[in-house]
Amino acid sequence: MNGLDLLGPDQRGLFIGGVWREAEGGKRLDVIDPADGSVLTDVADGSVNDAVDALDAAVAAQSAWANTPPRERGEILRTAFGLITDRADQFAHLMSLEMGKTVAEARGEVGYGVEFFRWYAEEAVRIHGRWMQAPAGGSRLLTIKKPVGPCLFITPWNFPLAMGTRKIGPAIAAGCTMVVKPASQTPLTMLALAGVLTEAGLPEGVLNVVTTSHTGEFSQTLQADDRLRKVSFTGSTGVGRILVRQSADQLQRLSMELGGNAPFIVFEDADVDAAVEGAMIAKMRNMGEACTAANRFLVHRSVAQEFAEKLGARMGGLTLGRGQDDGVDVGPLIDEKAVESVSQLVTDAVHDGATVVTGGQAPDGPGYFYPPTVLLDVPVDSEINVQEIFGPVAPISTFESEDEAIRQANDTEYGLASYVYTRDLARTIRVAESLDFGMIGINSGLISNPAAPFGGVKASGFGREGGFEGIEEYLETTYVALPAG
Ligand code: NAP
Repeated sequence: MNGLDLLGPDQRGLFIGGVWREAEGGKRLDVIDPADGSVLTDVADGSVNDAVDALDAAVAAQSAWANTPPRERGEILRTAFGLITDRADQFAHLMSLEMGKTVAEARGEVGYGVEFFRWYAEEAVRIHGRWMQAPAGGSRLLTIKKPVGPCLFITPWNFPLAMGTRKIGPAIAAGCTMVVKPASQTPLTMLALAGVLTEAGLPEGVLNVVTTSHTGEFSQTLQADDRLRKVSFTGSTGVGRILVRQSADQLQRLSMELGGNAPFIVFEDADVDAAVEGAMIAKMRNMGEACTAANRFLVHRSVAQEFAEKLGARMGGLTLGRGQDDGVDVGPLIDEKAVESVSQLVTDAVHDGATVVTGGQAPDGPGYFYPPTVLLDVPVDSEINVQEIFGPVAPISTFESEDEAIRQANDTEYGLASYVYTRDLARTIRVAESLDFGMIGINSGLISNPAAPFGGVKASGFGREGGFEGIEEYLETTYVALPAG
């Protein structure tokens, strides 16, 4: 099994109006294997006209889909949940191939990603408005929830399945149709997902997938179209800002899941071994290529050496290699640019005075590998603490007091995930209330959960995915004023 067998003979094309087809002019786009830089396969390279065809299909399907009973919409998601779960190994292999993560890691993503289908299968039947008496008596106030309408989803390469299901699940549940553009480096998982949703009974035109390298023109054209009512984007803050600007003319609704710069704070009263365990998850999940990845380790000076040595031993013991091989813990990064960017941040941090505890040097040979790396005594203003690292590097800086830790943690334009290790309950409450982040993990390195509202503040964006909140992103509220009778 290599996962490519999930894709039927036509399934590397565009999926528009329930039909697999070639891109205009028959253009193709290579998909690269990050473990050796070779061409894995290719997919259709959709044009702007193809994008408009996809929106036409979504618009044509919108009314019937909105009027499909919620239970039917939910059952399609529930069936797709079962199909993906049955094929979890194939999905994991496919993702490992195109993205690089280990198969074990990819299995974890399948388990996480598919839960959005089960959760929103259950939420589809709980969409409701309200009925109340006006405070002054007399009239009655009624609200109705309606689907927003045709949506555009743009997803990143780091979680090819979960970043799609987090949007597609609630949109299907709410009765919205959609055009999805997966990252051009990892389009295969989304194409496989379109196949499964069709098998589960999703009507034609509800989900349309366009793979394309004409990314800028694609979003500009669709966002200029007044039939598109919503954009949900997961990716970098820079691209998020472009999409927000492009939404102004048509005033599209937006959900923006953008970059992060998560602090991982270890107080002097923390269980250091537990903090190291948590750090392994918060840092090494997805090789550090996660928006929630611990980016800055802020450790009380009295425990910094112990924490660094223990984390260095754990990270230094991991095996680097091709994600599909047995015994490999850490796969390649997504591309050469990613390796260069991580290498540069490490070089600069060392220049600024940091000490390398483990790692610190990209290996020679094919593939886009970077070893797990721990740096100690990193100045808080070193570039590695300012930028998203997006690689397996743990920079450790120190602090002396709780106020200093909070100040350092909040000193970033981002506000997505944060982590705190302490055994002091009063401190837990104080710190949780002081951190400017959308999500806070207390004595836990894993915060993502399909039943929880995922999202950020400040330059990490707005809107929430998952939980009860996630479906609201796809619903409009209509207020109806009624006389008392
Ligand atoms: P990216 O460069 O912003 O790309 C994300 C997606 O946007 C891709 O599909 C990309 O297409 C597309 N894109 C690029 N320019 C565009 C434009 N002008 N108009 C429309 N679409 C455009 O980000 P990435 O490098 O793939 O992903 C890493 C980033 O995502 C990190 O910053 C990470 O923190 C963030 N992220 C956030 C979350 C969250 O939930 N907050 C989750 C995961 C990742 P192409 O592939 O064709 O370039």
